[in-house]
Amino acid sequence: MQLNKYQKEAKKTAIHPKRYKIIYPAIGLGNEAGEVLGKIKKWLRGDDGKGEMSKERKNALKGELGDVLWYLSTLATELDFSLDDIARSNLEKLRSRKERKLIKGDGDKR
Ligand SMILES: [Mg+2]
Repeated sequence: MQLNKYQKEAKKTAIHPKRYKIIYPAIGLGNEAGEVLGKIKKWLRGDDGKGEMSKERKNALKGELGDVLWYLSTLATELDFSLDDIARSNLEKLRSRKERKLIKGDGDKR
C-alpha cells in the first residue's frame, strides 16, 4: 500500500475534536511509541524466556507499530504533510548524511 493511500484511508477513521487536532495525535503518537517500548522492555526482562522474542510478542509489536503509523499519519494530515513527502524528505536527508559520512553523530542539522 502506498503511504499516501494509507494516509487517506486512516483519515477516515480519525475522530478527535478539531480544537485538539495537533495535540491529540501527537499525544497518541507518544503513547503508542511507549507501548512499543513496553513490549520490548518485557522481552528484555525475560518474559519470553531466554533468547529470541516470541512470535506472539512480535505480532503484538506489529500491531503497536501500526498504531504508531496511524497517529503519525493523522498528525501529518493535520499539519498538511503527506506521508510520501515525509518519507521522501527523510530518505534524502539520510542519503545526504551517508554521502558526507555523517550518519553517526548528533544534531538535526548534520
Ligand atoms: Mg496500541
